Amino acid sequence: VISAVIFLSLPILAGFFGSQQLFKVQRQQFAMFNEARRANSELKKEVERRIRLEEELKRQATTDPLTGLFNRRQYEMLFRRERERCRRQGTSICVAMGDLDHFKKLNDQLGHHSGDIALQHVARLFTSQLREGDVVGRFGGEEFIILLPDTDIVEAARVVERLRKTLETSPVPLEGQQWNLTVTFAVSAVLDGEKDIVEILRRVDAGLYQGKRGGRNQLVVV
Ligand code: GH3
Ligand code: MG
Ligand code: MG
Repeated sequence: VISAVIFLSLPILAGFFGSQQLFKVQRQQFAMFNEARRANSELKKEVERRIRLEEELKRQATTDPLTGLFNRRQYEMLFRRERERCRRQGTSICVAMGDLDHFKKLNDQLGHHSGDIALQHVARLFTSQLREGDVVGRFGGEEFIILLPDTDIVEAARVVERLRKTLETSPVPLEGQQWNLTVTFAVSAVLDGEKDIVEILRRVDAGLYQGKRGGRNQLVVV
């Protein structure tokens, strides 16, 4: 009888120990699965962090930190790209430059910090008034450059004149007062064969000089 009991209980014991082994393996698998899931989620977070970092680095490399407008390197690159695209599509591209009038007076009277706020105000205003395809850059100091792709000179002059008028009627609140800002603009269409923005800017700069001498707060078409 004892032998029979032992003999019959053998499969039960084998089954019991077998299932214990199986549970152990399942528990290990589950732990590994959880570990893999955690590692995946960390990896995903790291990838997202790197994408954000890359975007931030790109933003820093292509824009002016004060105004957020495109810096020289970026608008020159965009100029070459848009110039080529417009040439292929047979459309005009225009370049405008704006120089704030008597900006030194603002700095002298209200301080450099107020000057900076005014520059941000102008940058926001210009950006909000232009189309998405237009490019607004900070040329330096209180000077702005605007690229108007797919735009002929008549339309460009109308757009830039609207910017001038908008600034004229949008004073900046500074130190408890409303400071009136004005800008002198020059705009020119890029000529056939003109590839380098420097050539165009020379012409536009001459127009700007003319506008300053002519009393400021005006647009000169060159
Ligand atoms: P104009 O009408 O002839 O252009 O006169 P202006 O006073 O605007 O021209 P000017 O070139 O004499 O002076 C430009 C001033 O812009 C001088 C400089 O202090 C100021 N400026 C340039 N860059 C910055 C900046 O980043 N922040 C501030 N606050 N001021 C700046
Ligand atoms: Mg200037
Ligand atoms: Mg100026």
